[in-house]
Amino acid sequence: MRVPPSIIRAARPPRPAFQKGVILRCDHCANDVPDGVFCTRCGAHQGVSPETGDPKTREHSYAAHPGEHVIHPSVFTTLFPHLGQGKVHEFRWALVAGLAGILLLYLLGLITAAILVAAFLVPVLYLVYLYEAQVYRDEPATVLGFTIGGGFVVGLILTVITVHLVNPVSTFAGLAANLGTLFLIGFGIPILQEVVKPLPALLLRSREPFTETIDGLVFGVAAGLGFSVAETLIRFSDVIVSTPVHTDPGSWSYPLLTLAVFQPLLQGTTTGIIVAAIWRHARGRFERREWGGVLVALLGHIAFSLGSAVLAEQSFDPLVVVIWQAVIVGGPLIYLRYLLHHSLLEEAAHMGFAETVCPSCHMHIVASGFCPNCGMALVAAPVHVRRSRRRREPALGTAEGA
Ligand SMILES: [Zn+2]
Ligand SMILES: [Zn+2]
Repeated sequence: MRVPPSIIRAARPPRPAFQKGVILRCDHCANDVPDGVFCTRCGAHQGVSPETGDPKTREHSYAAHPGEHVIHPSVFTTLFPHLGQGKVHEFRWALVAGLAGILLLYLLGLITAAILVAAFLVPVLYLVYLYEAQVYRDEPATVLGFTIGGGFVVGLILTVITVHLVNPVSTFAGLAANLGTLFLIGFGIPILQEVVKPLPALLLRSREPFTETIDGLVFGVAAGLGFSVAETLIRFSDVIVSTPVHTDPGSWSYPLLTLAVFQPLLQGTTTGIIVAAIWRHARGRFERREWGGVLVALLGHIAFSLGSAVLAEQSFDPLVVVIWQAVIVGGPLIYLRYLLHHSLLEEAAHMGFAETVCPSCHMHIVASGFCPNCGMALVAAPVHVRRSRRRREPALGTAEGA
């Protein structure tokens, strides 16, 4: 339970009124801010309660979706950070509907169609999200071209090359050849992919409207998803081209789940982490957390590919492979949330006080960087909400420092 700030501050001398509310000095950033549960300038929790942990890092309240803990395995509030609560719900249902469609195609024996839908499902949802949140501001063609488009192009090139590298080797008999293939699949290709996937998105780094880490994160995820589409199309081109329209569904159920969910999530999340870390570097904040992110992305990808290959090689049940992939993808996903949460708190710039409606708690607020009521970082609000902010200067000359 949150301790009302009015109780904590009862002992302090009264401060000048901020029109409707009261202005108080934040214990953490020393700015004068409208009274609220969270500081609108630095995002710190203003209450002191053992349950909420460190009020400055407030890990019980994820800055993009304050209703959730930072350590929470949620796909949509992590990879689609601009979505409000209601929209998250819609996107979840859209994913479920897409998966149901794939299942139907599978049951009808339309494997080629099922593979195609699986390849495009999550990337298309992401395209809708980019449109919904207007992350690209006024440059949709440039942003989509360098993220999803660029990822797709590098995905085509790299996968064509790697498919040629791996296939001939695997035709040799013997342990050495197998080990070589395994090394390539388990280490070489994942590392190569992580190096190549972020490249197109980097061309957007110096563009003025996209300097926030949350922009880099979204661009990285988009590039990773574009890559994932190309990878699936090339790797399964033989199946897509040569399989008759109607086939026996056979053992396709788990591979389809990998193609529709876990592979795109892995490719999007790892590149999201790496591009977000590069954006942090551009802001002069590449530290332990960012190095950790790059490491988690690389190790996660290696564990995913190597583990899947070894389990398949050892003839484990395909369900075990899928469970392995789900568990492994969870690691980078949670790290991405952690990275975004701390970036949002650390990069809190003074956006000027303005009247707006919080996209998370729907309260009408006067705020700078964070909703004083629920603590949402308003940089993560959809662009149309950010554009509808109405400036409202604090009355009575309160401190504007930092
Ligand atoms: Zn503060
Ligand atoms: Zn709010």
